[in-house]
Amino acid sequence: MTQQVKLFIDGEFVHSNSDKLIPVTNPATQEVIAQVPCATTTEMQQAIDSAKAAFKTWKEVPVSERARLMMRYAQLLKDHQGEIAAIICEELGKTVEDAKGDVWRGIEVVEQAANIPSLMMGETVENVARSIDTYSYIQPLGVCAGITPFNFPAMIPLWMFPMAIACGNTFILKPSEQDPMTVNKLAELFVKAGAPKGVLQVVHGAKEQVDTILHHPDIKAISFVGSVNVGQYIYKTGTDNLKRVQAFAGAKNHMVIMPDANKQQVINALVGASVGAAGQRCMAISVAVFVGSAAEWIPEVAAAIGKVGPGHYSNDKAAYGPQISPQAKARILSLIAQGKKEGATCLLDGSDCQVDGYPNGNWVGPTVFSDVTTEMEIYKQEIFGPVLTTMTVANLDQAIELVNSSPYGNGTSIFTASGAAARKYQHNIEVGQVGINVPIPVPLPFFSFTGWKGSFYGDQHAYGKQAVRFYTETKTITARWFDDDIQVSGPNMSINLR
Ligand code: NAD
Repeated sequence: MTQQVKLFIDGEFVHSNSDKLIPVTNPATQEVIAQVPCATTTEMQQAIDSAKAAFKTWKEVPVSERARLMMRYAQLLKDHQGEIAAIICEELGKTVEDAKGDVWRGIEVVEQAANIPSLMMGETVENVARSIDTYSYIQPLGVCAGITPFNFPAMIPLWMFPMAIACGNTFILKPSEQDPMTVNKLAELFVKAGAPKGVLQVVHGAKEQVDTILHHPDIKAISFVGSVNVGQYIYKTGTDNLKRVQAFAGAKNHMVIMPDANKQQVINALVGASVGAAGQRCMAISVAVFVGSAAEWIPEVAAAIGKVGPGHYSNDKAAYGPQISPQAKARILSLIAQGKKEGATCLLDGSDCQVDGYPNGNWVGPTVFSDVTTEMEIYKQEIFGPVLTTMTVANLDQAIELVNSSPYGNGTSIFTASGAAARKYQHNIEVGQVGINVPIPVPLPFFSFTGWKGSFYGDQHAYGKQAVRFYTETKTITARWFDDDIQVSGPNMSINLR
């Protein structure tokens, strides 16, 4: 009998009464390692009621105490980084190094949440009119919720609840049903750090549980990360229900390679950024755009990518792990087949990939296409696998035009030795996160994660100052204190302050 993943409601890890269970499998072996319950309507309501009750007291906790909770939490996450990474390896198949990175990039957000007192400072102006001062405070919203994807089971939940809770909110988290156990460990450590009962709730499940969150009147703000179709649905439904929503969605990230770039740096960057993490990163480079004579490097890029391959996390030589599910693998293989049918040249084909000792793993070998055009499905769709498509253009202007015509705008990079080319690219490109000789420019948490266009629906982004704006309201106070000696001048019949 495999374990059933517990819900975390009202400060307790509880066994769900649900009869709807989803198997959680180890993607390297297909072994069922747990069953995740789809929380019942009653359990969802209990979680929301508990978060609502906890908000009444949590919002009154001094901001410096809330910051100290985050300091203790960051330390505990560091102390248990290896243990959390081991859970990620088992349920998602990442290599140990990559799994530790997943935890680390989340810890950095918790460290930023520990700076909450200065982030929550309002504004003041004295004497906006005679003897009148105006000042603003930032106050929490209430119960907020997060819905997270499978590909970063530690980092993305940690983008959300620490900032929301540091701001004084309470939080309901619905992690991916494909790898739900990492979040339970994060919740366990949050309790150990001293989080009061009810401040964080973890509900498990899938669409039905998300729909409860989308329609529940007590939930004020929703943060979502996942695929583009679901992101659009969450944004539309959540905002129709008058909630504040930020939805981070899919991507198709281009790297532009100028002929003056350092060839070896380009090759190294492309190997890691295209097939690293099995291509299951929203900031993966999936399109390499070679400008002019840089196109001559394409065979060498394909050869370098062909030297790495997937493997089990117990093998420290494995460059990346399996795809999350047999369905995800089948989808990638069908896109590879379609790419060939549509006329792209497959320089490296990972469709038939085996890993010794793990015949049932969802392995896809590194794959590289050339002669790709914008009409092909391998260009249009987010493949979310270890597949790099390469294209060629004559000059930088054409590269910029190509990237700007993509409906997505999550990340992009340019490799060049020219400051002028880099400056032109960063200024003109319609993408929210730009790397200059940096392939995956994920900003550190004192900035925000600023995807654009079809990669993001909403206005305030994740972490940094924008997360504080997302999870709070601003209250502006205009105040006059009468001095008894001042003569009262009679009613003011205008809107002007005097
Ligand atoms: P997904 O959209 O399938 O699932 C994300 C979450 O939504 C899960 O919790 C899932 O249970 C829920 N969900 C799924 N279908 C739903 C539906 N019909 N109605 C309501 N809820 C639903 O995404 P995934 O496959 O877990 O993650 C991969 C995707 O996430 C990729 O597209 C990737 O680009 C994207 N992603 C984006 C970012 C970003 O910052 N832009 C970061 C990481 C991942």
